[in-house]
Amino acid sequence: MTDFWLNLNEDQLQIQKWVHDFAEGVIRPVAEEWDEREEFPWPVVQEAAQIGLYGVDFLMNAMGDPTGLTLPVAIEELFWGDAGIGMAIMGSALAAAGIAGNGTPEQVMEWVPQCYGTADNVMLGAFCVSEPDAGSDVSSLRTRAVYDEAKDEWTLNGTKAWITNGGIADVHVVVASVDAELKSKGQASFIVPPNTPGLSMGQKYKKHGIRASHTAEVVLDDVKVPGSCLLGGKEKLDSKLARARENVSTGKQPAMATFEATRPAVGAQALGVARAAYEYALDYAKERHAFGKPIIMNQAIAFKLANMATEIDASRLLIWRAAWLAKNGTFKNGEGSMSKWKASETAVRVTEEAIQILGGYGYTREYPVERWHRDAKIHTIFEGTSEIQQIVIARAISGLRIE
Ligand SMILES: Cc1cc2nc3c(=O)[nH]c(=O)nc-3n(C[C@H](O)[C@H](O)[C@H](O)COP(=O)(O)OP(=O)(O)OC[C@H]3O[C@@H](n4cnc5c(N)ncnc54)[C@H](O)[C@@H]3O)c2cc1C
Repeated sequence: MTDFWLNLNEDQLQIQKWVHDFAEGVIRPVAEEWDEREEFPWPVVQEAAQIGLYGVDFLMNAMGDPTGLTLPVAIEELFWGDAGIGMAIMGSALAAAGIAGNGTPEQVMEWVPQCYGTADNVMLGAFCVSEPDAGSDVSSLRTRAVYDEAKDEWTLNGTKAWITNGGIADVHVVVASVDAELKSKGQASFIVPPNTPGLSMGQKYKKHGIRASHTAEVVLDDVKVPGSCLLGGKEKLDSKLARARENVSTGKQPAMATFEATRPAVGAQALGVARAAYEYALDYAKERHAFGKPIIMNQAIAFKLANMATEIDASRLLIWRAAWLAKNGTFKNGEGSMSKWKASETAVRVTEEAIQILGGYGYTREYPVERWHRDAKIHTIFEGTSEIQQIVIARAISGLRIE
């Protein structure tokens, strides 16, 4: 066990600066352009791969940090640069987490690197859970996986909705129902390898924010994958299904296990956006004059900034605690959800206040704060909405099945 400590160590400080420099020098200058284009920012992701910021080694090193803080520190800087491009760089990590959380060590070794490729051949991963009729309610997934024992082969059918990197990814991790009667206890995760016939991209969504990140439907039409693509293996699945049928606890469900581990990281994304808007608004409020003095000299504006700074620091403390607990203990009171909920709601409020502080300029696309406001909002929706985070916390603190 590593002590919880608020001072970053030398390695963490170096990584923080390295990511910040990339965010400032490479991401920020092109953020507006990629937001307007609403396209996946390949050149930026390739540049991130060249310096080792997009890649399996960076992810493994960051996730291997015993304090748990390296990943949220790096993500905060990345998303301070831009959330859409940040998501394009971080999107594959969700697939990697899905593999790491549910796969055997051999499957992790084989498939996580393929979610990233190499610096000269960048590849992408996608984690496919949500469906048109099942977002928060992951127990209602309709995508089915059927096993053919003679061929040792699984056939997947269904449609996934709002998938980051969906259809453009090389490796798709798909959560499907194996036994619909068992609801979420009858689900399993599968790897769909690159170029597997039957997997295609459905509609690409036009979004409110994080528009440089690609989000699309994934259609699975008689997709056949070998038995080795079932994450965790058949024996483990069979014993889980048998226990579920006998109504014995089956442990964590595949999608839930992944989301639990990634919540502090999603909080850190929102934190980066909030900090960007706060810093911009603070500088602006010192420069902008109204009634013969800088607007910050009015308490109405200064107190907004004081509130923004405090909420941002509170969010960071919750994120760091949750990231540390994920490595050095267990979540007792929904600490992962607390961090994600607090940071994402803070990002929405802080970016809105930043628009208010910039007045008319803030409302136009000439200034970045309206983009940051659009980008902030997704964090209250994906990887568990704010309402779902509150359910997780309420259940954890009460021990009751709050609905
Ligand atoms: C840009 C983007 C990227 C995404 N990327 C991915 C991805 O890579 N992989 C993936 O699998 N999914 C992804 N998603 C999907 C995302 O996780 C879901 O949209 C989210 O979980 C919410 O599900 P839903 O949209 O079906 O909303 P619903 O579940 O229909 O919820 C609608 C509203 O009802 C509320 N609600 C629902 N149930 C309850 C309840 N029990 N109590 C109180 N309130 C409730 C919700 O909080 C929400 O306010 C992405 C979504 C977006 C927009």
